Amino acid sequence: MRLILMGPPGAGKGTQATRISERYGIPAISTGDIFRANVAAGTPLGVAAQTYMDAGEYVPDEVTNAMVRDRLAHPDCQRGFLLDGYPRTLEQVKELDQMLADLGTQLDGVLVLSVDAGVLVERLLDRAATEARADDTRNVIGRRQQVYEEQTAPLVSEYDARGILAHIDGFGRIDHVTDRVYTAISRLSSVPDRTGRLAPPARR
Ligand code: AMP
Repeated sequence: MRLILMGPPGAGKGTQATRISERYGIPAISTGDIFRANVAAGTPLGVAAQTYMDAGEYVPDEVTNAMVRDRLAHPDCQRGFLLDGYPRTLEQVKELDQMLADLGTQLDGVLVLSVDAGVLVERLLDRAATEARADDTRNVIGRRQQVYEEQTAPLVSEYDARGILAHIDGFGRIDHVTDRVYTAISRLSSVPDRTGRLAPPARR
């Protein structure tokens, strides 16, 4: 199964990505996590990405695309993958299409987690207190939301036009959101999870 998880900063993508990854036995690939690991290790990629990340801007497409192309070539992606935080620009969508064509495969679905803007900021400020991410300050959070609206929100209509989009209400208890995610996946694709279970009914 090949999935994309989209949603503004603070929508809960990371939490849901971990759960999807375990249930369906596919790697969750977070471009943000890969960048942060490279920043922490002081690699050339980390050095190239850090200024953009700290300012809440997107890392240039060439850098991000090359990193994802490399990651998708790893053997653990052969059975499928979940992309968390990629693509984020229309240029990245085009590049991902090309990568998938080169691999002889295609996307099964695009999940969009949506949460009210006020709740997003609250969640990110809470995370700032526990995870100490450099880009979880009030100013940078505001810029990240703006960049998402300008550059990433347009991707929703692009994927909707392809008929592979599922909107998921990201508000409420984490377990309830997860149930909605599983239901959406089961509707998008006929691929069972690794235990062969059907997705549970959505709870509100
Ligand atoms: P995230 O953890 O997904 O919120 O990503 C943290 C930061 O990493 C973003 O604010 C960007 O600076 C950078 N980043 C992550 N994914 C991408 C992407 N697909 N394109 C450009 N920059 C990205």
